[in-house]
Amino acid sequence: MKAIVINTGFLRIPVEDMFSDARPERKSTILYPIDQEKRCLCVIRSLLCRSGSMNILIDAGVGELIDQRILTHYDYRSEGDWNTLLKPHGLSPADITDVILTHLHFDHCGGVVQHLPCSIDPEEVILTFPKATHWVSSIQWEWAQNIVEREPDSFFEHTFLPIQTAGRLQLIENNTEILPGIQVRLFSGHTRGLMVPIIATENETIVFAGDLIPTSIHLDPNIGMSYDRDPELVREEKKGFLAEIKSHDWKLLFQHDPVSERREEKGERRKEK
Ligand SMILES: [Zn+2]
Repeated sequence: MKAIVINTGFLRIPVEDMFSDARPERKSTILYPIDQEKRCLCVIRSLLCRSGSMNILIDAGVGELIDQRILTHYDYRSEGDWNTLLKPHGLSPADITDVILTHLHFDHCGGVVQHLPCSIDPEEVILTFPKATHWVSSIQWEWAQNIVEREPDSFFEHTFLPIQTAGRLQLIENNTEILPGIQVRLFSGHTRGLMVPIIATENETIVFAGDLIPTSIHLDPNIGMSYDRDPELVREEKKGFLAEIKSHDWKLLFQHDPVSERREEKGERRKEK
């Protein structure tokens, strides 16, 4: 299996939301590019995993159907639609066989839907990856539909209900190997049923930690995000999982870190080009 990181876009998130326990004097946050409005740049990464005839996408970015009010608030910048993003890899969206959604927050699953081409009705949407099986934890699927009124700026039903309508939804109940070489682990501190894929590539095992450990700063168990539903649980989940990652020498990929793409040996930080 080969794993390829794809940057789908960028957001600017208020520092106090991105690093909920961070004080201004903390050296760690100062390493981040922070603008005059005290927002920090966050990249939105997906991972494309290829093996034989399988083209598996982990998370799908923001997409084109999120309310402009939200996009303006976060100063969202897209790196292009999925036709554009997949082209350098010789693929089109119809070639994607599986989409694994860590959870259903808009910056992770918004890209699975798009406008029906040539339609004047904005309500008419289709799946971006029409042939793909979309994997979501059943806990998250239930949670998203029940919580949508309390987290109206994070979950948008029109970005995930069409998966079910199209008959392309595959729910996951437990920690398990969902595809050859890809096992998933469920967590519930950030959001209920967050699914973290662990991918065995040809020469290493990669952990796509998503919003459990979105940046290198969040390696500190005491630093979470204001978006975490249960900060205490995040702390406990992170401690246990980081110990496990270390014991297996798995490589950790940061989905939102603009400075470091992954945890490097000896704590070195790799610059984004
Ligand atoms: Zn999230």
